[in-house]
Amino acid sequence: MNLPGTFDALHIGTAGLPHEGDERINYAEGLAQLEKAGLSALELEFVQQVHLDLDSAARVSQLAAEKGVHLSAHAQYYVNLASLERPKVHASVSRIVKAAKVLQAAGGHSVVFHAAFYQGRPADEVYTLVAKAFEELESALAKAKVAVWVRPELTGKPTQFGDPDELIRLSREFETVLPCIDFSHLHARTDGAYNTVAEWEELLDAIEGGIPKEKQVMRRMHMHLSGIEYGPKGERRHLPLAESDIEYSALMRLLKKRGVCGTLICEAPRETLIDDTRLLKEAYSSA
Ligand SMILES: [Zn+2]
Repeated sequence: MNLPGTFDALHIGTAGLPHEGDERINYAEGLAQLEKAGLSALELEFVQQVHLDLDSAARVSQLAAEKGVHLSAHAQYYVNLASLERPKVHASVSRIVKAAKVLQAAGGHSVVFHAAFYQGRPADEVYTLVAKAFEELESALAKAKVAVWVRPELTGKPTQFGDPDELIRLSREFETVLPCIDFSHLHARTDGAYNTVAEWEELLDAIEGGIPKEKQVMRRMHMHLSGIEYGPKGERRHLPLAESDIEYSALMRLLKKRGVCGTLICEAPRETLIDDTRLLKEAYSSA
């Protein structure tokens, strides 16, 4: 399978276009806005629905290439690959495949999603169910001739499947899988931990050491970062960087120091989306 290639730089960008949420999303305008802000990544927000058809995705592909913007997609929130009801698992797989198809038509590299919920079950039992669904997902993608990276996301609540160990294990066991590392979610799901260089170093070492070398994960990283509000139950909501305690400058310096390449997406609230993404970019550039 010919999966998308490696990156030689870290591309920073937004989750959705700055004005997304409007009835009509104007990609020409939005991508030009990103380019003007010095940004070079965009995550298509298919979280409620896949709002592009294959033809419009092909036009977005051309526009993004012209502006030097690298695309990923976030599949629908309504996914649970460990549901006790089999039809819901199949529907979840179909939703991810649909997002991946349109993403591929848009020339994108990775489809991101929240894989599952524990629903009170032991983590290893849920892992087995998720792995079974990943087999179904990989074969459905192969059958549809879709070759993009499949990225289960590091999730923000301890009730959600998707801690670093689970994502590393899936990346080891499935050819097309690599993690989406959401630093804010990790900070939230651990109620305030993972906010220091030492902890991030340990995480990056675990990822690098735990995923087969041929996948070149440090040249294919896909990450999320934004301000976040959290409590004992984990993530509450995303916040502007200025209102949150996340040590983003230190993290951006570390990513630069370690030469991590790929894409980093800012999921700040709409009002501060462009400004916060530029803050991340500036912290990285000035490091
Ligand atoms: Zn997400």
